[in-house]
Amino acid sequence: MRQGKLFVISGPSGAGKGTICNELIKTGNFALSVSMTTRTPRTGEIPGKSYFFVTEEEFVRTIEEGGFLEHAQIYGNRYGTPKGPVLRQLAEGRDVILEIEMQGALSVKRSYPDAVLIFILPPSLAVLRQRLAGRGTETEEEIEKRSSQCLSEIRMINDYDYYVVNDVLSDAVADALAIVRAEQLSTGAGCDELIRKYEEE
Ligand code: 5GP
Repeated sequence: MRQGKLFVISGPSGAGKGTICNELIKTGNFALSVSMTTRTPRTGEIPGKSYFFVTEEEFVRTIEEGGFLEHAQIYGNRYGTPKGPVLRQLAEGRDVILEIEMQGALSVKRSYPDAVLIFILPPSLAVLRQRLAGRGTETEEEIEKRSSQCLSEIRMINDYDYYVVNDVLSDAVADALAIVRAEQLSTGAGCDELIRKYEEE
């Protein structure tokens, strides 16, 4: 049976990776991994759907048990991708999407070189600043910090397999789906199953 593919959507904060992921999930063709985090839930977030909200102790125990595909610390909170559900879905032939920050994305690529890393870019740093200001959750100083952090993250783009510029959302989603399709049709991972299908005719 064909193994599923692991797609990792990552990139600077404010580039719109969450929105693009939600659109991809809506197609019904992907399994989404639910991460574990030690941060407190925000209004409207549903435990087990948005995240598994856990204590520091539970998080550390999961690390010790080898239960994470990757994990990272971001702004004082811990985030991790539970390994079991992802590997199970892939084994069942489902393509899985991870929406994670960059340290995590690069760590996934080291342990699973077949993972496909997609970098979501804002159209410009000026647009990124406007988007962050529009969210109204960051101060002026934080926006400047995020914007210069974005630039240092963009400098790591060569470690990724693909990039998508998120200017018009529908175009960005179409680009991401084109990447997914190309990867699904790639002969890179071998085509024994396909050959057998023709041989059996
Ligand atoms: P937030 O707290 O705003 O939901 O997420 C903060 C950052 O953590 C986002 O960039 C998000 O993509 C990232 N993130 C969410 N889950 C995971 C995870 O399981 N692993 C890693 N490495 N990053 C994650």
